[in-house]
Amino acid sequence: MKDKEMNDFKKMLLERRAKLLGNVNFMHGEALNKSRQSACGDLSNVPIHMADIGTDNYDRDLTIDLIQNGEEEVRSIDIALEKIEEGTFGVCETCQKKINKTRLVALPHARLCIECQRVEEVGGGTV
Ligand SMILES: [Zn+2]
Repeated sequence: MKDKEMNDFKKMLLERRAKLLGNVNFMHGEALNKSRQSACGDLSNVPIHMADIGTDNYDRDLTIDLIQNGEEEVRSIDIALEKIEEGTFGVCETCQKKINKTRLVALPHARLCIECQRVEEVGGGTV
């Protein structure tokens, strides 16, 4: 892969990472503040009113799910960024073949090529 392409992917990954971290931090605050949110009174800096939807418990579970997914993706992005430094970015971890570029554009932190990903999903293995 060319340096220019590698840099583009790096930029994409860093942007996505920053966005995810922002979301995760926000949701951490949401989950923690949920119980005393109504007492707090200052909701001017809360962009979405999750407290308005459904029950508190449901919201909290959903928020925790979102936090975990976000943190997992941040970890995958960190690994992809390390690979860029090592020069192994875009290589499938299982078969060592190059991952299709279209796939990388859609999912820059993909660790496996589409074939190996499919095998892993069918096998129900851990990702
Ligand atoms: Zn593969």
